[in-house]
Amino acid sequence: MKNKKTVRDLSDAFLKGKRVLLRADLNVPMDGKVITDDTRIRASIPTMDYLISKGAIVAVCSHLGRPKVEGYTDEFCLGPCAIRLGELMGKFIPLATDCVGDAVDELLEQATEGDVILLENTRFHKAEEKNEEEFSRILAKPFDLYVNDAFGSAHRAHASTAGVVRFLQPAVAGFLMEKELEFLVNAIENGTRPLAAIIGGAKISTKITVLEKLLDQCDKLTIGGGMAFTFLKAQGYSIGSSLCEEDYVPVAKRILEKAKEHGKSILLPLDLVVADKFAADADTQIVGVDEIPSGWMGLDIGPLTIKELETYISDCKTIVMNGPMGVFEFEKFSKGTLELIQILATMTQNGALTIIGGGDSVAAVEISGKGNLMTHISTGGGASLELLEGKLLPGVEVLDDKV
Ligand code: AMP
Repeated sequence: MKNKKTVRDLSDAFLKGKRVLLRADLNVPMDGKVITDDTRIRASIPTMDYLISKGAIVAVCSHLGRPKVEGYTDEFCLGPCAIRLGELMGKFIPLATDCVGDAVDELLEQATEGDVILLENTRFHKAEEKNEEEFSRILAKPFDLYVNDAFGSAHRAHASTAGVVRFLQPAVAGFLMEKELEFLVNAIENGTRPLAAIIGGAKISTKITVLEKLLDQCDKLTIGGGMAFTFLKAQGYSIGSSLCEEDYVPVAKRILEKAKEHGKSILLPLDLVVADKFAADADTQIVGVDEIPSGWMGLDIGPLTIKELETYISDCKTIVMNGPMGVFEFEKFSKGTLELIQILATMTQNGALTIIGGGDSVAAVEISGKGNLMTHISTGGGASLELLEGKLLPGVEVLDDKV
């Protein structure tokens, strides 16, 4: 993963006048035609700027959403992204009506060195997700090289993220891809120790592999959020009507035993904010883990846990957070997650490396307004989780190796 070529490995002379197919991740959240968060568009720009500064012609392709039918649908048109990208780059970005064929050829013929064009949603073709060879071939056809900067889609072996490389070389990583790999692989494998991982979110089933991997790699592991209750149950506590995956109670037991055998500590909640129902206006109490009233559910970690967590990770130099500590979408249950983010912000200011991954924790950091105080916020939810699990990402694997 670390040994992949990037745009920096291509000479200026080579890039000048070349037609680049740049796979970016412009899969932004939308409310109708309005982009509600343009982080992914902003994150794609440094690679585009670099390529155009070298005199390349850059055609950006991306998917947006999950179109169900073959062909164009207004709902998933990349038009709003073309406009936003143009505003951010200070230039007009034309949108080709398709990502393959005449629509692309026509715009490329009009383009001159330093131009950027956007190709329409790759998922308007079912062949994209099926990674069909013929589609990869026609996608590659007009271009001289391929750059993959779509970290958020790199865990998928689709035509535009992987298949296209069979027909288009050189194939190198962009700056965003490079940065994500640097933080999510290098920082964890070779980062300054002690290394802490704080894992939360709803379910243990979706994060079991990452939990096992991190238990091996980390010096300190904290488990919060809904998944903590399967662990608390495994420890013999009554958890009321809190979220629990019964099938995973033995798995949680095994993880706790493994930690003990290896002399590693896992911090689980000591106290909780419990609620009488899953709702923003629920009645709440703060109770110890051994005092959850029957019929009540734990929806956030309590103040004692937050204090203990602060002490527990205080000597750590690298901290990875993936998943919220509670139902942060409801204000009453957001305190644990937001206070943790504040602790991480202070630790970053004091020199620690803080890495936030996973869609919901990123959303929580956005709510806190402290995004700029973290070392790295990953743009890829699924991809960042797979990297933490130690998996190879197909969109990275296919890129050229450094010699
Ligand atoms: P994930 O996608 O697995 O990271 O889960 C994120 C979701 O977990 C968020 O929508 C949170 O509201 C939810 N969550 C966090 N803590 C709890 C909890 N104690 N009970 C139920 N859901 C939770």
